[in-house]
Amino acid sequence: MFEARRPSSEFGSTDLPVRPALRHELNPDGSLTIHPPRHCPRQHPVPDSGSFSWIVALHLHALDCHRCRDEGNTEHQWALIDPAYEQADVEEATRAGLELLVVPPDEGARPGRIELHLDG
Ligand SMILES: [Zn+2]
Repeated sequence: MFEARRPSSEFGSTDLPVRPALRHELNPDGSLTIHPPRHCPRQHPVPDSGSFSWIVALHLHALDCHRCRDEGNTEHQWALIDPAYEQADVEEATRAGLELLVVPPDEGARPGRIELHLDG
């Protein structure tokens, strides 16, 4: 069911889905707490069956669900992003990995946009 909804892409089965399932919280002392999702997309509880890692190429956290993998699902790893926190102005962009760039409107009364950039 989950795989059937996923569109095919030019990069084939090596694609990694990106989910807006991470949340950053700014603490009063200025430190950050990262809240990972509680469940994978198939509703397996993450504390019991998941692990987190860092995807260097994308500059994003990743969730690997061991239960999904053990059940034979080819899709068992997801990149995670917090769209409310992990975004940058065009001037602040690192141009590395996957970034959400906030682009202001050309004119004041028009809407701006958020662009998804991968390595540039
Ligand atoms: Zn799972």
